[in-house]
Amino acid sequence: MAIDLEQRIRIDYIEHDLLLASAIQLGILRLDQIHPQISGNKWFKLKENIKAAQSGGFETLLTFGGAFSNHLIATAATAHQFGLQAIGIVRGFHAREQPSATLLECEALGMKLVYVSREDYNKKTEQDYLEQLQQQYPGTFIIPEGGSNNLGAEGAGAIAAYIPTDADWVVLPIGTGTTFCGIRNKLDEHIAMLGFPVMKGGEYLSEEISNRTSRGNWLLEASFHFGGFAKYTGELIRFMNDFYAKCSIPLDFVYTGKMMYGIFQMIHEGKIPAGSHIIGTHTGGLQGNRSISRLLAYS
Ligand SMILES: *Cc1c(COP(=O)(O)O)cnc(C)c1O
Repeated sequence: MAIDLEQRIRIDYIEHDLLLASAIQLGILRLDQIHPQISGNKWFKLKENIKAAQSGGFETLLTFGGAFSNHLIATAATAHQFGLQAIGIVRGFHAREQPSATLLECEALGMKLVYVSREDYNKKTEQDYLEQLQQQYPGTFIIPEGGSNNLGAEGAGAIAAYIPTDADWVVLPIGTGTTFCGIRNKLDEHIAMLGFPVMKGGEYLSEEISNRTSRGNWLLEASFHFGGFAKYTGELIRFMNDFYAKCSIPLDFVYTGKMMYGIFQMIHEGKIPAGSHIIGTHTGGLQGNRSISRLLAYS
């Protein structure tokens, strides 16, 4: 079943005047095609966690997320497929009053949702808090928010196998950097990697990434955050609608829209050499667009 999920991955080469002008080949690695709920990079970050949970005899996964979290719904759907139970620790009591479509789907998939205060949620990486959760929910396999542990990075390394060997650049949107590091650790070092942090002040991720990979030939471009995590501007939305009209590929506003905007801007500014073969990674996340569907020409 797990293997079947990866069968739909493909690369779409897109046509665009700007690319023709600079003889740049831009392929989109369609990880979004994996599954509507277990989308994109989240599947890869989960798969080694699932294996570890299963081989350790755990029957329940416990993880963390906000009201629109791609990771939470991916965990709920993966647990459902693998016959595991799932508990989601959800950030903020406000999320319970008007549950998002994401949270309702998590529940429909059988995930038990536990709402906690923002203060408690912020302790999600503290050892004391994790031990407390472990006592409260015995026998659960705890996966950090976003699937950002070493097993997550190891799983993400498998994405490298989908990159053509003659690519010059692989581009990714960055949240925790786990996917980026996982791929960097496996991908041939002659292929450069470019990451776009999607939150304000994402420069700090350079140090974290250096700590998680000993490989070189990568760089971050932190200026395409559009105001911060899950923030957007009219310009970003126009770009996404325009990209869909030209290329028929839907982008999400939290991650892949910002990455694609950044790629086009850097090409426009001549920062990507003419003749390059670029692979932009569509990491999925389209379910999150439901919170702004009124602004999009696609769903
Ligand atoms: C979670 C997510 C990312 C970020 O992945 P990291 O491994 O945390 O950097 C990128 N794109 C999408 C669509 C995501 O859901």
